[in-house]
Amino acid sequence: MRLIILGPPGSGKGTQSTRLVEKYGIVQLSTGDMLRAAVKEETEVGLKAKDVMGRGELVSDDIMVSIISDRVEKPDCKNGFVLDGFPRNIAQAEALEKLMDEKELNLDSVIELEVDETILQDRIESRKEQSTDVRSDDNVETLKNRLEVYRAQTAPLTKYYDERNKLRRVNGMQDVDQVTKQIDDILSDL
Ligand code: AMP
Repeated sequence: MRLIILGPPGSGKGTQSTRLVEKYGIVQLSTGDMLRAAVKEETEVGLKAKDVMGRGELVSDDIMVSIISDRVEKPDCKNGFVLDGFPRNIAQAEALEKLMDEKELNLDSVIELEVDETILQDRIESRKEQSTDVRSDDNVETLKNRLEVYRAQTAPLTKYYDERNKLRRVNGMQDVDQVTKQIDDILSDL
């Protein structure tokens, strides 16, 4: 099973991805997690990404596409994966389509978590309060920027995948278990 989970920051992509990993034995490929690890380890990519992430902007497509292209080749991706945080714009989506074609990998579905913006702000605020490991990119200005970037660059992906008959929408404002249930229903119909 190969999936993309799409939704604005704070929509619950991470939580739902984790559940998909447990249920289907696939791996979660979170580009945000990969970049945060690279920043921490001060790799070449990490050094390039650090300030961009701090501003809530997007790291270059070349870097991201190359990371994903290498990552999907790894043996643990054999059963499939859920892409969480990639693609982030149309150029990345096109590059992903091309590389999956070349590797003869099929994309099963794109799940969009639809969430109201005011709810997102509340969720991110409460995540900050609960978390002991506060993410440095989670300050208010960065969050605003990330939402704007989402609206401008990532949201158009819903149309892109809808036109390819891959998009399935889920109401992300329900409670977490209900969201999981709806995703399960969608995937069992595939
Ligand atoms: P996330 O945890 O997915 O919200 O990602 C955190 C930050 O990492 C984003 O605000 C971007 O700066 C960067 N990032 C993550 N994934 C991508 C991507 N696919 N393309 C560009 N930048 C990304």
